Amino acid sequence: MTNFENMTSEPLRMSTLFLRTLRDNPADEDIDSAKLLIRAAYIRKEAPGVFAWLPLGLRVLNKVESIVREEMAKIGAQEVHLPALLPREPYEITNRWEEYGDNIFKLKDRHKADYLLAPTHEEMFTLLAKDLYSSYKDLPVTLYQIQTKYRDEARPRAGLIRGREFIMKDAYSFTLDEDGLRRCYADQRAAYERVYQRLGVKYVIVHAFSGPMGGSESEEFLAPLPIGEDTFAQSPAGKAWNVEALKTPALDSIDYSATPQSSDVNTPQAGSIDDLVDTLNSVASRTDRQWESADTLKNIVLTAHYPDGKTKLIVVGLPGDRQIDLKRVEACLSPLEMSLATDEELAEHPELVKGFIGPMVLGPQAQAAGIENPVEYYIDAHVASGSAWVSGANKADTHSINLVYGRDFTADGVIEASQLNPGDMSPDGSGPLSFERGVEIGQVFQLGLKYSKALSFNVLNENGKSVPVWMGSYGIGVSRVLACIAEFHHDDKGIMWPITVAPAQVHVVIAGKGNEISQAAEDFVQKLAKENIEVILDDRAKVSPGVKFNDAELLGMPIIAVVGKSFTKDGSIELRVRDGGQSMTVPADQAVDQVKDMIQQLSQPYTLD
Ligand code: ATP
Ligand code: MG
Repeated sequence: MTNFENMTSEPLRMSTLFLRTLRDNPADEDIDSAKLLIRAAYIRKEAPGVFAWLPLGLRVLNKVESIVREEMAKIGAQEVHLPALLPREPYEITNRWEEYGDNIFKLKDRHKADYLLAPTHEEMFTLLAKDLYSSYKDLPVTLYQIQTKYRDEARPRAGLIRGREFIMKDAYSFTLDEDGLRRCYADQRAAYERVYQRLGVKYVIVHAFSGPMGGSESEEFLAPLPIGEDTFAQSPAGKAWNVEALKTPALDSIDYSATPQSSDVNTPQAGSIDDLVDTLNSVASRTDRQWESADTLKNIVLTAHYPDGKTKLIVVGLPGDRQIDLKRVEACLSPLEMSLATDEELAEHPELVKGFIGPMVLGPQAQAAGIENPVEYYIDAHVASGSAWVSGANKADTHSINLVYGRDFTADGVIEASQLNPGDMSPDGSGPLSFERGVEIGQVFQLGLKYSKALSFNVLNENGKSVPVWMGSYGIGVSRVLACIAEFHHDDKGIMWPITVAPAQVHVVIAGKGNEISQAAEDFVQKLAKENIEVILDDRAKVSPGVKFNDAELLGMPIIAVVGKSFTKDGSIELRVRDGGQSMTVPADQAVDQVKDMIQQLSQPYTLD
């Protein structure tokens, strides 16, 4: 995408502008920003998750990109532009040709060589820096691009928010050591904060899971919006985590010396956890209290999908009063992806008796019992060592009670398998967690040595020793954040662009017939242009003022000016701030100064509450 610094201050005339607004929302869009951006003819859907940018949309996009470029320049990052069409080999070396699985658009050239449309560019930037640089004297360096990325998302949705072709700013830092990496990371992180503030987008920085990107420390910038696909948790002390990255604080071990040996109980009609609890309370009632769902350990059979398409079954054990969270399981067992196992898959393991699956035929217990091809067993982090459980006895209509974790059974690993609940203790110990939804608008990674080692990018240090280069990578979803701006700044009539990204600052409506009015509007617009103020002029003939006003609200320029009735009456122009602000009528010869004042007020940094 080209820079748009020489934005012309020639007015955009609605009479000739390539624009057709729609009267109604498109029926197949699920969120407000997508509906409005399409209705206002900023973008057009060409295929699921694939969009065209129309003139006004492109102006907003260019402004968002300019802000990103300015902030990258401030921290010394240099812009380059790599191809999106890339050969397979580098991605093969880092294993990501497979790890990204079906998410990569793969294609073949006429010689049957494999290519991909890049989902992200760590490999290519590493190779680029490696090709040109070989000494500590060359470092640090940070390169970035603003470029179209391709991901064959399983569920393209929410307009630009989850596209299959989308625009990303991706930056890569190369440093001699870890300290250097930390400095670059801090610079990028600070630049991101400035970018989002200038864009008028609220954000929360959360600890994140780095996924197939790899590396150690990673944080995400989430725009807190109910339409988001991510959930983040916040502690009373103000720390925040994507729930995928939240580690449950370790539980104290429980003394089980007084827990009786486990025994079996006949439990017919225990189809659900509630039924099981009722049955236990009638056939095996306890003296101290009633049985509760929290006493049961449910074992859920999952199909784990390897990136190459192979699968295996695993079982996850979690307290009966908690829900499984497949995304959290995936984050722990990356790059495996999870789905609930089907009955056919279950049938391949006769030791798994549906509805009565228990730990004694799973994982380490299965191996001890000599079961062939044992199913791996993972236990949720909410199961304390020494705790006693009711669980399936691996035969029909039977459960075992007093099964002690650490005495009677163990697992192949402890993972974060359950959904977190309000009230769960936060990892920083400051109190219970609270939860919100968010849209990921950026992510920063301390990659460490993963890519430099895989692709042999070494430099000579001060002592002439060859050492691998430390790397970080930093992404902003440029097209996604544009949609988030509209998501934060709209009402039921249309968009209300922040002045920093609006296609024009002022929308002038000619609302009346006759030369006098149109001449006055032209004069006003010329004066605004002299002040380098960008204007859309609705000079359409034979379009009613009502339609023009509706379009002005829909398109969402920050200031709407009307030359119409008031002008005929007493030579004044109506001015209004689109986002619920002031509205006034001023004499035509003072209107430009008034607009300048309004622009200045609207240019104050956003208070993002
Ligand atoms: P998600 O979890 O939403 O799929 P991701 O973590 O896979 O995103 P990254 O690899 O971190 O994405 O990419 C950097 C940024 O690119 C993200 O923070 C996001 O803002 C943007 N992005 C990622 N996928 C998409 C997409 N399908 N459409 C639009 N923007 C995207
Ligand atoms: Mg991410």
